[in-house]
Amino acid sequence: MTPVTSFNGKHAAVFGLGGSGFVTAQALVAGGARVTVWDDNEHAREKARAAGLRIENLALADWRNFASLVLSPGVPLTHPSPHWTVLKARQAGVEIIGDIELFCRERQKIAPGSPFVAITGTNGKSTTTALIAHLFRSFGFAVEVGGNIGSPILALAPPAQECVHVIECSSFQIALAPSLNPSVGVLLNITPDHLDRHGTMENYAAIKAKLVENADLAVIGIDDGLTSGIAGELMKAGRKTVCVSVTNTMIEDGIVLDGGRLMRRSGGRSTRIAVLAGIASLRGEHNGQNAAAAIAALGPRGFDLERVAQGLRSFPGLPHRLEEVGRKGKVLFINDSKATNADAAEKALRSFDKMFWIVGGRAKEGGIEPLRALFGKVVKAYLIGEASEVFVQTIGDSFPYESCGTLEGAVPAAARDALASQLAEPVVLLSPACASFDQFPDFEKRGDRFRELVEALLAGKKSG
Ligand code: ADP
Repeated sequence: MTPVTSFNGKHAAVFGLGGSGFVTAQALVAGGARVTVWDDNEHAREKARAAGLRIENLALADWRNFASLVLSPGVPLTHPSPHWTVLKARQAGVEIIGDIELFCRERQKIAPGSPFVAITGTNGKSTTTALIAHLFRSFGFAVEVGGNIGSPILALAPPAQECVHVIECSSFQIALAPSLNPSVGVLLNITPDHLDRHGTMENYAAIKAKLVENADLAVIGIDDGLTSGIAGELMKAGRKTVCVSVTNTMIEDGIVLDGGRLMRRSGGRSTRIAVLAGIASLRGEHNGQNAAAAIAALGPRGFDLERVAQGLRSFPGLPHRLEEVGRKGKVLFINDSKATNADAAEKALRSFDKMFWIVGGRAKEGGIEPLRALFGKVVKAYLIGEASEVFVQTIGDSFPYESCGTLEGAVPAAARDALASQLAEPVVLLSPACASFDQFPDFEKRGDRFRELVEALLAGKKSG
């Protein structure tokens, strides 16, 4: 844990006692702060009470006593409308911050300039965070990894010169961290997302930009208009910036993906960094962006090409994201359960030549219509969940399909057809393009069930 000593003797109100709020309250107490906590959920309050935290209904509290409101990132700051705690805090002139801000202040106090890599973007945050952590570890560094992935930031060891903190940041967390100043800030991409919570794309982009604006080194994926604008501004202001691109191989300076190879461009000259082809955990152009950004985040260490190549090759990848879960003969089984919308499923369809596609669940707006251009890659589809009927309409006679209902039906059917096919490397791909909630509590459980079914099939067992 990182005790928040910068709040020693101050009184903080903490609202929202989910995973990060609970740890934040404890870290403040450990640092000597007086802390008052509240959550609308009675169960959360009970847990806090049992842990010895001081509970008080913040709706009735005297806000003049508080130095800060520490808000959980799940609580609306601006849109659709500010939460009542936000209004109370503003009325009383109390600052509103989050756990990443507390970490930044602590770092400034006890270990200024210590290695702190912060990662954001609409997509690819977790993969890039895990890869950066893995690369630093493979270079022999002590690494603490967390934030929006795994452990809350204040559950990690305190900032220190000899340890690299690799922190995934959501836009909500950045909005609550006004003094975010990582040693390396990574901004991967910005595409429409969470507009219910940010109002407009401009707001959303302005929040994301804050992660790189005060970074000692900014790493920016410049393949969309918004991020390339942000990179341009930073470079104009003379900030140290490395651009990353998978769509424009012609840039003069930066790291690009060119035909499966990562290349460093410097003043127009080109050197090869690594070959991604054959690395199962980094399939697809989107992972080219993640890998390029991760290498840039290594700073000068990224020039040690042998170690970089070893680090990339040994990256295990994250579960549920194009995760290879087995092979039977020439058939490859891929779990991409994290693909809960068409955008994410598109990345999967692009990453393979021909697939036996398990798709469905609770459909998102637009369904699989945006994937039409890739329908030629689908040998056959196996439909599961609520979306089946709608998807049948979209598929029409583009490719054959079978309505399987459940994963239990779909996995053996897809495996049977893939094994019987004459293709060189047929792929059975679970990339649902749908939420999981009609049949599973979350996408992880859906992916775990797929893995179980594949493992049982490979072992020649019937799965219960
Ligand atoms: P996040 O943490 O931002 O949700 P993940 O690394 O968990 O991102 O990846 C989630 C999904 O986003 C992947 O399954 C893939 O479909 C897609 N994705 C990953 N990296 C990128 C990228 N760089 N650009 C666009 N999409 C990506």
